[in-house]
Amino acid sequence: MNGLGLVKGLLLTFKHFFATYLVDIIGGKKSKARRGQITADGLFTIQYPEESVTIPEEFRVIPFLVYTLDEEGQRTYRCTACGICSKVCPTQCIWITRAKDPETGRPITESAEFYIDIDKCMNCGSCAEFCPFDAIKMDHDFHIATYERGETHIFPKEKLGKPLEYYATIRPVNYQAEEIARAAKAQARATT
Ligand code: SF4
Ligand code: SF4
Repeated sequence: MNGLGLVKGLLLTFKHFFATYLVDIIGGKKSKARRGQITADGLFTIQYPEESVTIPEEFRVIPFLVYTLDEEGQRTYRCTACGICSKVCPTQCIWITRAKDPETGRPITESAEFYIDIDKCMNCGSCAEFCPFDAIKMDHDFHIATYERGETHIFPKEKLGKPLEYYATIRPVNYQAEEIARAAKAQARATT
């Protein structure tokens, strides 16, 4: 029948329109968490940046380097400068130099410089996937737009560094699994 599709479309719009208010008034946490998603009970859109969608754990933006803080507040990066991430990176946007022992001049398991060109990074996650030391992880922070497209888009080590606690917060399931595997490995080593 002519116009039936139009009526159906309008009814659907009205359904979502009223559901938006119902979710706000009586909706549980689950319904509110779906706001902005295709499974939302009400509006599909959100009032960004006042509101933001719930980001799933496997969401990937630019990678970051995991570090822990020692008692003096110095960063200890997990990265050993093995270079695997830069080798597997499909866009070749990771650039690393290895640090040297100041006395012997020999290379040590630490990076002196670590850069990522975020314009080239395609957020594939291969670097994090292949890193044998859980030292590089994919971030959730997508608020990275700038007015300058040159140097500010080449992230140095200091900017790429984020604490282990941050990683545990944004990827709790992955973090737990890695810690369990790490503990099991340590125990196996101790018993052999
Ligand atoms: S981040 Fe991981 S894979 Fe990349 S150089 Fe460091 S330890 Fe190696
Ligand atoms: S996410 Fe992919 S493109 Fe970006 S740095 Fe890692 S491997 Fe390279």
